Amino acid sequence: SKVPSIILGNGVRMPQLGFGVWQVPDAEAAAAVTTALEAGYRSIDTAAVYANEEGTGKALAASGIARDELFVTTKLWNKVSETWTRDSVLREFDASLSKLGLDYVDLYLIHWPAAGSDDYLTILRTFAELAESGRAKAVGVSNFHPAHLQRVLTETPVVPAVNQIELHPNLAQGELRAFHERHNIATEAWSPLGQGKGLLTDPTITAVAGKHGRTPAQVVLRWHLQLGNVVIPKSVTPDRIRENIDVFDFELDAEDLRAIAALDNGTRLGPDPETFEPS
Ligand code: NAD
Repeated sequence: SKVPSIILGNGVRMPQLGFGVWQVPDAEAAAAVTTALEAGYRSIDTAAVYANEEGTGKALAASGIARDELFVTTKLWNKVSETWTRDSVLREFDASLSKLGLDYVDLYLIHWPAAGSDDYLTILRTFAELAESGRAKAVGVSNFHPAHLQRVLTETPVVPAVNQIELHPNLAQGELRAFHERHNIATEAWSPLGQGKGLLTDPTITAVAGKHGRTPAQVVLRWHLQLGNVVIPKSVTPDRIRENIDVFDFELDAEDLRAIAALDNGTRLGPDPETFEPS
């Protein structure tokens, strides 16, 4: 594949660019994932709460691509109404595997830390067993802040392979990226394109795009890749799916990177992990 891999802390290889399927209805997921696989994507990011693991799994099975060439991520939805135990974590994991039609996932994440609860510690202790057994090749977290990560590092056997966080030029997450670097945790960017909203018409981004003869989405993805982030852009439009992976034949220069760094204004598009309670 044309997509380079990064090596996670536990030695597992992960493609630096993958395909996200949040908000893709289950009935459309198979077509979108099939288009992505045909375009060369090998990493797919889904979650139990996206309710499209079955459609995603169908496309993976129909593709004929060898399992060890695919990288499948799903996530546990740790709703606060549940008091999580080893058994309930294993039940959620088994349900995801069965919907995906797989016997292992490459990466299993806890979707949110869940404000007001420290069940994430219990959940991650069970994730350690899943990693040990090989049913999850790597385990990690999503939407964790440094204080959550610090507790994980001191109170569980898990060193998260990945923290998947909201990250785009308007929310560059410098503090978290520095923390990750110190602890060998890979930074994975969700909503890498800023959900296709104002970011892609920002005059700085369109100017850099014009300079390189590329699209704004390609410039933003290049910025992530050159920072070392893993990215999982989402689209259901075949031309955009192909455009978003066609980013390995040009480079932003230092001036471009400086201009884009100036767009970091703390704009969050999703919930704040400090207060969000998954329900
Ligand atoms: P994104 O930043 O990938 O933007 C997707 C939107 O941008 C599309 O719906 C489309 O409107 C537009 N777009 C895509 N490609 C384009 C192109 N080439 N040109 C113009 N517009 C384009 O947003 P996202 O879907 O929120 O994030 C990507 C993935 O991250 C999700 O699908 C999901 O897998 C993951 N995610 C995870 C969490 C989490 O809590 N862990 C939260 C949100 C998203």
